[in-house]
Amino acid sequence: MAYGFRPMWHLPIRASNWDSAAAPLGGLPSYHTVRVEAPAESSPRWICYTSQSTTYVLRERAAPRQRRVRSHLQLLSSFARFMRSTTGATEPMAEVSIRKIVKEYEGNVQAVKGIDLEVADHEFLVLVGPSGCGKTTLLRMIAGLEEITSGEILIGGEIVNDVPPRDRDIAMVFQNYALYPHMNVFDNMAFGLKLRHVPRTEIKQRVDHAAQMLDITSLLDRKPRALSGGQRQRVAMGRAIVRSPKVFLFDEPLSNLDAKLRVQMRTEIKKVHQAVHTTTVYVTHDQVEAMTLADRVVVMNQGIIEQVGPPQELYHAPATQFVAGFIGSPAMNLLPCRVLNGTDGLRLALTNDIVLALPPSRTERYAPYVDRPMLLGIRPEHLTQYDAESESRSGVVRVNAPVDVVEPMGMETMVHFFVDSVAVCARVDPTTPAEPGQSLPLAADLNQMHLIDPDSGRVV
Ligand code: ATP
Repeated sequence: MAYGFRPMWHLPIRASNWDSAAAPLGGLPSYHTVRVEAPAESSPRWICYTSQSTTYVLRERAAPRQRRVRSHLQLLSSFARFMRSTTGATEPMAEVSIRKIVKEYEGNVQAVKGIDLEVADHEFLVLVGPSGCGKTTLLRMIAGLEEITSGEILIGGEIVNDVPPRDRDIAMVFQNYALYPHMNVFDNMAFGLKLRHVPRTEIKQRVDHAAQMLDITSLLDRKPRALSGGQRQRVAMGRAIVRSPKVFLFDEPLSNLDAKLRVQMRTEIKKVHQAVHTTTVYVTHDQVEAMTLADRVVVMNQGIIEQVGPPQELYHAPATQFVAGFIGSPAMNLLPCRVLNGTDGLRLALTNDIVLALPPSRTERYAPYVDRPMLLGIRPEHLTQYDAESESRSGVVRVNAPVDVVEPMGMETMVHFFVDSVAVCARVDPTTPAEPGQSLPLAADLNQMHLIDPDSGRVV
């Protein structure tokens, strides 16, 4: 229970609203200010804290004044988290559980089709997917801004389906920042805390701390109209940080920024999460943003989850054709193919002329798919310039590419060509002499390939 911060919190409690579960309360006057030295854990229903060497466990009574008591508790809980974020001590759990969540709009539109998802405490989870896949709807249901058709959402172990947004202890950062134009930066950041009656000195302390973290201290007196897009975005993040909520929700927060600023702010968001560790759910349609920010990425498509996993896992071991094609830039090449039985092992026929020997390590896995129309998935970086060394590598085969377009990128060169009518991209060394119209020998590393069953859409 040692959090290692100074006694500095005063919690006003009305004794009539409490039951003491494990400590002296009887001696308290009817309205009392408790000096909390080390808040341990709290929830809207109960609180455990240490005051002057005595541990108290209080249970909230179902009293008419519940809301008032709850807001005190929320304040305490937020403050404790804020302190812990600055002292690095352990925080109470703030995981989000999404259970069989369905969202149906009028006209039988099923935007979210029975999603199950666990967001761990401290985790940075990114929801990514194409436009209309349901990611914003899911985020808004977590925030309480969208009604749930069926299923349950839990924050910190408590079902919040019927809890209004302001009582969910979440902070949301929107794409359009939603700053108050008539307030300066300080007041914009402080506004939510003022509404919650946080003492003025504490508001200043929190705003200053967040402003320092985001490098906007010199902008605190400015109005939003005198800020650049990136600065406004920082203020919007600062407003969320000062709240010290259980959960941050980000809805495409960088999409209004230009490409350079987006990359810069991406790093800032990552830094902030490394500093405050708040559980975060982040929505984007940009798979690079998803890969760079996330502890785990959730790929959504048409209201369902295609795959959940750490970025590297999604990249190297996609479970479905959709994930294989969505994650990675340039995208994975997907080519119709057929697995054939050869005298010396399995072969992969792309056309009548292009038949490649499959690595023996894949024989058992691909044997059930012999003679069925399948898809070969191979990333551009696994189609590289062919050289003497390539020949000696097991599982690496030669393919002659009729070069269509060459794109020098500096560090690498993209070579585009067609197999039948399917466009293929290879990533070669910039020193490779590649010219449109020529045949370029490429090394295809089939140890890195994926075989997809087009009927099920699954990688086999
Ligand atoms: P985007 O990246 O374009 O914001 P998204 O993945 O966030 O897309 P949602 O905004 O969650 O997608 O929408 C999911 C689906 O629900 C879409 O088909 C959309 O048209 C539909 N939808 C969203 N809001 C409503 C509404 N109020 N009424 C009816 N259908 C809606």
